[in-house]
Amino acid sequence: MHNKTLAELSAALQQSEVSSEELTRHLLQRIQSLDGKLNALVTVTEEHALAQARQADALRQAGNAGPMTGLPLIHKDIFCTDGVKTSCGSKMLDNFIAPYDATIVAKCKAAGMVMLGKSNMDEFAMGSSNETSFYGPVHNPWDLDAVPGGSSGGSAAAVAARLSPVATGTDTGGSIRQPAALCGVTGLKPTYGRVSRYGMIAFASSLDQAGPMTRSAEDAAMMLNVMAGFDERDSTSVEKAVPDYTQTLNDSLKGLKIGLPKEYFGEGMDQAVIDVINTAIKQYQELGAEVIEISLPNFALAVPAYYVVAPAECSSNLSRFDGVRFGYRCENPKDLQDFYERSRGEGFGAEVKRRIMIGTYALSAGYYDAYYLKAQKLRRLISDDFHKAFEQVDVIMSATAPTVAFKLGEKTDDPVTMYLSDINTIAVNLAGLPGMSIPAGFVNGLPVGLQIIGNYFDEQRLLNVAHQYQQVTQWHQQSPQDFA
Ligand code: GLN
Repeated sequence: MHNKTLAELSAALQQSEVSSEELTRHLLQRIQSLDGKLNALVTVTEEHALAQARQADALRQAGNAGPMTGLPLIHKDIFCTDGVKTSCGSKMLDNFIAPYDATIVAKCKAAGMVMLGKSNMDEFAMGSSNETSFYGPVHNPWDLDAVPGGSSGGSAAAVAARLSPVATGTDTGGSIRQPAALCGVTGLKPTYGRVSRYGMIAFASSLDQAGPMTRSAEDAAMMLNVMAGFDERDSTSVEKAVPDYTQTLNDSLKGLKIGLPKEYFGEGMDQAVIDVINTAIKQYQELGAEVIEISLPNFALAVPAYYVVAPAECSSNLSRFDGVRFGYRCENPKDLQDFYERSRGEGFGAEVKRRIMIGTYALSAGYYDAYYLKAQKLRRLISDDFHKAFEQVDVIMSATAPTVAFKLGEKTDDPVTMYLSDINTIAVNLAGLPGMSIPAGFVNGLPVGLQIIGNYFDEQRLLNVAHQYQQVTQWHQQSPQDFA
């Protein structure tokens, strides 16, 4: 049952092959017996899940069920969940029970979905390996000594290990796509503004975007149908109609123009990964697509620009965690200064502190023009590269990450090497574009992700392009041996 996709489970529920309660119990059981190896979940909401499942079954019996009623999911622990701990992977929020639901959590609830629990993540979504979490690292189900990617590593590992057919994620610089790639699942980062950020704990507000992590593009389309849409409580959400993303999945790819940016196939990329991507591209040509070499000349500026913009925004967003209003508060402060210093000093981990310091520095008087303003200018150049490319092509493809999953501990002492694991994903966030990662093969038994980048609000096309590939390949159906 746990090997079924969301679409298959939806059909099974509709045909009364299984009840939501049975399905929920089965997955809770798997979580209980298998998550000890993975550490993918921070909180398991067993009672809550069973209550939601029974409610879903009652709705179905009364003839009031929709396509998502009774389907299980896991939310990344960055989304506020009413009455349930919302830690954001941090000691700072280890004692925080959210008093309300994030918009996407409310939407999933309203659709009748059942929350199994909350997934582990890098602290405040800062990281590429899930090793910055206060709750310890998540292990990759394909190799328990390897990282699952980050920051949505718990979500990716949970979906790959069949603990849940779907989990939510967030992507500020790659945090949906990179862990999806490293764990062999399908991840979609929508266009900035497509999905509400309300109730999603902010890291870098101009980059953050929520999206689904699933086992197929079809499932991602079903999830985006639920998650997308304007929200008056998020001033950057866009008032634009939400199409039915499942309707266009079967469109033909004949004549599709795929751009291959030469910068994404050069230095720093593992040749074995590139070989897998080239095979995937050939498959697309067989499906009728045309391949065009393009250039995104400012590629190399994305990581440096991001590591000014993201820390600058995080230094401002995280100033609210001062020991007064939310979360951790130090013991026996001497005075007010000591209270602030120790509450923040003890509550935040090393990576978060590093980012706050970089960001505060970049925003300070005298340095603002030299760093922050300069980074914003680079951001424009990077966006312009994409705008030009999309005059010529429909989608852009590359590897999602330059290598397959690396070993736990391998990059923790060298933040810059760690930052470079997002070199292929970060520019997409700086430009606000939608991007996906889908499984495309293996290197040394570890999954490789193909990144598909689309034009603004072109999620329908991304999902169509991903789905057509999944109709003729089986990479997305492979499961890690110990979790089959
Ligand atoms: N790995 C990147 C970082 O550490 C991106 C994280 C994310 O997308 N949340 O900032």
